[in-house]
Amino acid sequence: MKTLVCTAPGHFAFREDALPEAGTGMARIRLRRVGICGTDLHAFEGTQPFFSYPRILGHELSGELIDTGGAEGFEPGERVTIMPYFSCGTCIACRMGKPNCCTDINVFGVHIDGGMREEIAVPAGSLLHGQGLNADELALVEPLAIGAHGVRRAAVQPGEYVLVTGAGPIGLGTMELARIAGAHVIALDINTDRLRFCKEKLGVHAVVNGTDADAVEQVKAITNGDFPTVVIDATGNLRAINSGIQYLAHGGRYVLIGLQKEAFSFSHPEFHKRESTLMSSRNAVREDFEHVIRSMKEGSIRPQTYITHTVAFDEVPAQFESWLNPATGVIKAMVHF
Ligand SMILES: [Zn+2]
Ligand SMILES: [Zn+2]
Repeated sequence: MKTLVCTAPGHFAFREDALPEAGTGMARIRLRRVGICGTDLHAFEGTQPFFSYPRILGHELSGELIDTGGAEGFEPGERVTIMPYFSCGTCIACRMGKPNCCTDINVFGVHIDGGMREEIAVPAGSLLHGQGLNADELALVEPLAIGAHGVRRAAVQPGEYVLVTGAGPIGLGTMELARIAGAHVIALDINTDRLRFCKEKLGVHAVVNGTDADAVEQVKAITNGDFPTVVIDATGNLRAINSGIQYLAHGGRYVLIGLQKEAFSFSHPEFHKRESTLMSSRNAVREDFEHVIRSMKEGSIRPQTYITHTVAFDEVPAQFESWLNPATGVIKAMVHF
């Protein structure tokens, strides 16, 4: 079968590999879609921390189940997606029911080879049913589950003002899940096209351009002087993370979904006077995936609007670099098999 390998930063090569073996507890999937995410782009650029090469990218995927690997309730031929985080099951985090931050986690397509190939074998426990959703929607479940997890970490309540910084695919998903939780969502970004997308396609409560000199005043006015009780960073940008605290209400929660490799810092008095709660949000758990799938089936999320570019598997090496350029207007690129 054909496999696409990122051999080194900036380089892809197709390789002919043997078909994966299902084996005990391993399910086999024929790929239909792989969504391209920031992690894949950073891996290609060579800016993803703790990343080694060669590596097969791709962790947002959907396909057709060939062999269930003994997974209960699954049928060969059915459409599936996966939770691409493989955990040890025994570490302190796993024992606390938090396999998303397992000490020994292997993320498919990041720490181990991923989905940019015609067939894959994955732990049967990672399968999710896809009935009722199409191949594109299913491949978008994972990035939305990241947002769902962040919103659940923040314990967003109906009627709260939630500011989400960063209107990329993860931020958009976070905004949608916050809206579903009943929040008044404020989108903050520095890209006017993306802010327009938030307003027109997502119907967020308000948008703010972070480059406006009075951005803080705008957020204050939108929240009737209170400021948002939840601020969620979905940029991973150091400046954005450092300045996020200024938008937070007293008594509020600041949740970091985006990842930055440098140390972040903000004023202790600013943090302290708010009695802020700071938390990170890593990956997602089954509950988040199931919540997203339910929301898609109900039609409360229509993530196919995020897909701006589609490409055949064979064309990925020729197209990939262009997705690093914001001028191409890419939100989500989707690979077809
Ligand atoms: Zn991703
Ligand atoms: Zn573990």
